[in-house]
Amino acid sequence: MPTSPDNAYDELVAIRTELSVLNSCAGVLGWDERTNMPKGAADIRSQQLALLSGMIHEKFTSPHMGELISTAENGDFMKDADSEKAAIMREIRREYDKSVKLPKELVEELARVTSLAQGVWAEARAKKDFAMFLPKLKEVINLKHRQAEAYGYQTEPYDALIDDYEPYATVKSISEVFAKLRASLVPLVHAIADSKRRPNMKIVENDFPVDLQEKFGKAASAAIGYDFDSGRLDVTTHPFCSGIAPGDVRITTRYNPRHFGEAFFGIMHESGHAIYEQGLPAEKFGTPLQEAVSLGIHESQSRMWENLVGRSRAFWTHFYPKAQATFSSFKGVAFDDFYFAINNVEPSFIRVEADEVTYNLHILIRFEIERDLFAGKIKAEELPGLWNAKYKEYLGIVPKNDAEGCLQDIHWSAGLFGYFATYALGNLYASQFFAKAKEEMPDLDKKFAAGDFSDLKNWLRKNIHSYGKRYSAEQLVKRITGKPLSHEPMMSYLKTKFGELYGL
Ligand code: ZN
Repeated sequence: MPTSPDNAYDELVAIRTELSVLNSCAGVLGWDERTNMPKGAADIRSQQLALLSGMIHEKFTSPHMGELISTAENGDFMKDADSEKAAIMREIRREYDKSVKLPKELVEELARVTSLAQGVWAEARAKKDFAMFLPKLKEVINLKHRQAEAYGYQTEPYDALIDDYEPYATVKSISEVFAKLRASLVPLVHAIADSKRRPNMKIVENDFPVDLQEKFGKAASAAIGYDFDSGRLDVTTHPFCSGIAPGDVRITTRYNPRHFGEAFFGIMHESGHAIYEQGLPAEKFGTPLQEAVSLGIHESQSRMWENLVGRSRAFWTHFYPKAQATFSSFKGVAFDDFYFAINNVEPSFIRVEADEVTYNLHILIRFEIERDLFAGKIKAEELPGLWNAKYKEYLGIVPKNDAEGCLQDIHWSAGLFGYFATYALGNLYASQFFAKAKEEMPDLDKKFAAGDFSDLKNWLRKNIHSYGKRYSAEQLVKRITGKPLSHEPMMSYLKTKFGELYGL
């Protein structure tokens, strides 16, 4: 019996909610795998996760799902394109189309080849030998081309790949913003490199007992708004935040007993991700309106708390006396010297260790290379040479070998082409949002200095978190700030802050 659009919609949401619960089970297993799981459980864990993802995929891509979507799309509620229901349907349609477009054979081949490629990449990196990785890299690139063709695209294949991580963004729109960013950022990085001023890094490279770091990090995380009643902090090798479900958003970190910042700013970063996840509307669980907009928007939340707040004078006006009371290494260290040390800028080879200013250049290099690779303008063989030339031009340094050059990141071996851009987009979104928040709440710094972070958290809740995927990243930026995404808010922030520190 044919069902009505309203009934089809209700059934769709019910099925998707069930799938979200299944997904949350996979989330708990995944979190456990990276924190507590005994080594011996690796085999059964991969079977458990494969079974769950197979069940989810099968149910979501079934012909019945397709019929429900088509029927629901005829509903009267679709007439108002701005309504919540229309947004839910838009996102479910998008997910469904993407899932059914990929042939099963291609999905399996991608899983098989990227799994092998990651092994080869790890060995090639250890041996600093790009040639060893090249054949597998070419295989991955070929498969990603096939994936792009299967998805389809408007202008170029790389659009289709970016869309997996930053929905609705295009190579063209990102390239335009990144080109302006590069033109403005490169001279700033060179000016800082030429400055005679340097912080004393021994201040943060000293003894910081792990138990005290944990206590201090947790206190800061709770102060900015991470709710430990719905979360927890554990130790892992590669820190992450896992938004398992409403009421269960967990973060992880790793401690270096000889460095203050590694764990602390890592905890601030993951707390930013977690505050976003905790702010998604629980009552909409199972629909896209309880899910994050994009990786870029997610990263804007982590970067805002880590850098724009966590490395600011106002934040440390409140926290530095507490840090001094906690860590004997900070006794007698002046505030300004500490502040300079946590804001050190130095061109370096390794992206994950880069500072707030140079980090974006690491991303621009990867984005430009990927874009030209998928446009057929460059060949995989040329990667090391192009990589090194760009490092020389943008950062003024040349990697000694491919391990500190184009072999440093796992992404390409894992098939994550299109992913890197979201890191820099996150920084750009963060700066544009933060500038607007400060404009609307001029006493934000005063509040931070008094240890009150609730105004910013509530502003993010109201303007970003509460909507889930209702608006695309592009729409969200325009709605909140009244302008399209621009490099200007970030550049003006960086120039002011680092101009003062480095006497530019
Ligand atoms: Zn992040």
